[in-house]
Amino acid sequence: MSDHNCIFCKIIAGQIPCTKIYEDDQVLAFLDVHPVSEGHTLVVHKEHTCRVDSTEPLAMARIGEVLPKLTASIQDAMEADGYNVLCNNGFSAGQVVEHMHLHIIPRKTNDGVFKQWPSFQYPDGRAAVIAEKIRKNLAL
Ligand code: AMP
Ligand code: ZN
Repeated sequence: MSDHNCIFCKIIAGQIPCTKIYEDDQVLAFLDVHPVSEGHTLVVHKEHTCRVDSTEPLAMARIGEVLPKLTASIQDAMEADGYNVLCNNGFSAGQVVEHMHLHIIPRKTNDGVFKQWPSFQYPDGRAAVIAEKIRKNLAL
């Protein structure tokens, strides 16, 4: 299913142009128009879903199947040392386009992109409480 208001569905349907990297019957990868680094690529499943948690496991698996080849090809083409694979889910996480997509962002040592990963330490006992809450939901 596609969503008539979705910009990525329009790209998939060929109604809006993109710079295509890869396409098969289920998956499309194309360059981000506002890249974080050269070669910044977006990977989408052709079925419209908003987030990872609303996407069929098999659709996620199909993306997973092409990801190793795609990331290696992008890294090598850009002569990068590494890459980030990111997926923003929800407004609070920075998702702007509501069609589930992975970002592949080629990285070079000291490129200054994402300089700092904010992190903190759990106080004593807190990690166990949180892990238990999540495990309960998994069991549903
Ligand atoms: P997100 O914040 O994870 O939803 O990221 C959406 C990404 O889509 C941004 O990095 C945009 O630059 C990118 N984007 C938006 N419109 C287009 C388009 N027409 N073609 C390629 N990339 C796009
Ligand atoms: Zn869509």
